[in-house]
Amino acid sequence: MPGGWKGSPNSIAALLRCQVPRELLPKCKRCRRLAVSGQELCIGHIGRWVSQPDKAGRAESRTLARLERAGLLPLELIALPVWRNLVGIATAQRAPARLALVQVWDRRYTEPMRWAQVQRQAINLAKQPGKRQNNTAYWYENR
Ligand SMILES: [Zn+2]
Repeated sequence: MPGGWKGSPNSIAALLRCQVPRELLPKCKRCRRLAVSGQELCIGHIGRWVSQPDKAGRAESRTLARLERAGLLPLELIALPVWRNLVGIATAQRAPARLALVQVWDRRYTEPMRWAQVQRQAINLAKQPGKRQNNTAYWYENR
């Protein structure tokens, strides 16, 4: 055999040499499982911390955007304080509340109790203490 056996990079010995002992690898700050490389959290906790709060309310937010493009957001509604006061509330709460307002808007005279209830929920949400997001997503979100 020309050159002879030089050892394969796939040999077990080569793999073992490249392996960092588990104790030295960065661990998740929350559960001590192996962290994702370059991160302080494991895959489970990154998912919980980054994706989920972001996803909440996204569907409603997209629906609102579609309605706006279709010209179906009532300008009268968007002008109301109950809509405008939701500026900066987290998407997870703001988008569903605004979608509920849009959905009940056309029935505000036929179902005044329902309209009042949805309004009240939005008003209570707007009163909630806490950090407001600096939201610049859509013009109708900021008016
Ligand atoms: Zn974790």
